[in-house]
Amino acid sequence: MPAPLIGITPDITTESAHHGLTTRLLLNLDYAEAIAQAGGIPLVLAPVLPPAHFLDSLDGILLTGGGDIAPHRYGASVIHPATYGISDQRDEFEIALVRAALAADIPLLAICRGMQILNVALGGTLIQHIPDAIRGALNHRQQELGIPSGEPSHPVIIQPDSLLARTVGTTHLLVNSYHHQAVAELAPPLLPTATAPDGVIEAAEVPQATFVLAVQWHPERLYQRYPAHQALFTALVDAAQRRVALRPAVVEKK
Ligand code: MN
Repeated sequence: MPAPLIGITPDITTESAHHGLTTRLLLNLDYAEAIAQAGGIPLVLAPVLPPAHFLDSLDGILLTGGGDIAPHRYGASVIHPATYGISDQRDEFEIALVRAALAADIPLLAICRGMQILNVALGGTLIQHIPDAIRGALNHRQQELGIPSGEPSHPVIIQPDSLLARTVGTTHLLVNSYHHQAVAELAPPLLPTATAPDGVIEAAEVPQATFVLAVQWHPERLYQRYPAHQALFTALVDAAQRRVALRPAVVEKK
């Protein structure tokens, strides 16, 4: 049976290059390596066509981290000064991709910004800047604490009967943390499945879906050393593999 194809959403940046502004796709290679390590074939999705053009070819989707989502996408008219890295093109593509993927029940793992765009695509809202919204919040930007990205920096408590708990095999997990925003109102059919000690929602899932799992941390920086984080990628690829098994057989030409 062929290995499942996992579409990965890259970041989009516009920068000065070759004597002019150039727009480029950007992807931390860890995401693709984590998918390959789990037995999937990673495909970077170029957001130059509507997501529907890609969906028939994909068995799973990985939504990656990146800059902030434009606040108007979740109904906010004020933009917090700490907001950075907005890409309308990326927001547009990923929101449409999420809606189409859920409608087709395609397995989906959402990481960091990915969890936020999943929530926004379904009608949820975001906390624009955690330090201003939650008194006594943890510092969720561990780079400010001098902790390397491959090391966890805070615990999360996981809902015992969740897909997440079954996947990572525990209800107490140490995670890394690179976000200044977080989910505010979680949109149905998403349910919260992990929280940090300060109450920040750190994971969510769609119980009715075959596999829709979102985490606010970065398992792609942890999977090589921590089996619980590797299990997230394995679970996505396994769910995608089961979808491959259900594909109509290709009729060979005579
Ligand atoms: Mn965090």
